[in-house]
Amino acid sequence: MASPDTVRLSTAAAMTLGFQRGKFYRNAKLGCINLLMEYDHGCRANCLYCGQASGVAEGPECKSLIRVAWPSYPLTKVIAATRKAAERDPFIQRVCVSALTSPEAPKDLVRIVQAVKAGTGLRVSTLITPTVFTREDMACIRAAGAENITVAVDAATVELFDALRGSVTGGLHRWARYMEGIADAVSVMGNGARAVGVHLIIGLGESEEEAVRFIQGCYDRGARVHLFSFYPEKKAALQNRSQPPISQYRRIQLARHLIDRGLSRFDAMRFEGGRLTAFGLPQEEVLAILRGGTPFMTTGCSGCNRPYANETPSQALEGKLRNYPFAPNPQDIGMIESQIVERVME
Ligand code: SF4
Repeated sequence: MASPDTVRLSTAAAMTLGFQRGKFYRNAKLGCINLLMEYDHGCRANCLYCGQASGVAEGPECKSLIRVAWPSYPLTKVIAATRKAAERDPFIQRVCVSALTSPEAPKDLVRIVQAVKAGTGLRVSTLITPTVFTREDMACIRAAGAENITVAVDAATVELFDALRGSVTGGLHRWARYMEGIADAVSVMGNGARAVGVHLIIGLGESEEEAVRFIQGCYDRGARVHLFSFYPEKKAALQNRSQPPISQYRRIQLARHLIDRGLSRFDAMRFEGGRLTAFGLPQEEVLAILRGGTPFMTTGCSGCNRPYANETPSQALEGKLRNYPFAPNPQDIGMIESQIVERVME
């Protein structure tokens, strides 16, 4: 039982493909079928916030990643079900394949991308680690038909990266290779093509200033940033760390949106004690953008909306959705507006 013959599916994807029963809160729909490679030896890396880290995982079984279990299925079955589901519902636009840190991953990922592309015709994203993927591997991924390559850097500073997934943890990842890997991906996919993504997790210990500086740096390198809010995975080394205050996450979402749309830059924004206090635009313009709601929707490759991946169902019920998988309604916007100016820690 290993990739490329089998893959793991997020619970949301398993529900969407009819492999599991369930319904999304507020009738959300999933726009991207997320697949995860698997190997009997599991992941070789040791990221302290990850439920699959070699230091805590009990074998290859993926009990929890991004808050949910990832059951395993034959790839051919997943491809056939995805094709049928996308024919029924054009909201499904994309398949994302996440690689594990393993020496076999590059060649196996290429085979999965080829099979998914041929079997579904949908757009394909790949989420890779530059620790095992070279520039040549990225060129093979593109040649196999992937439209997007994303690098999960996750941590906003070199110090946090080393402490949470690099040398300090005994893990394999190195910040310098990740920065080089972003440049490799941009050179392979084309600068300005908006085809290279970087995953960033907010709440790993960075200040708002550090997060926004990192986001700007990614855009200056030709990559876009996709935001996640830290959620403590059961059994991960950071299982007792709190989620970041929602006010902090909202400010970073807004700053990232302004940078993504070319409306502001890190150097035009203002920070006090590391906290974002001005977005580099007149307040009425910022308010109009905020009230449009778009900055608070899930950011990712087109069509990727990851419903409820960053919060519990009860938090979603309370209006504390970190990434909206649909356009926020007027009530949501009122809630967001109150959250973004909130000064007290939750
Ligand atoms: S943004 Fe979504 S589709 Fe793109 S790499 Fe990340 S999880 Fe995959």
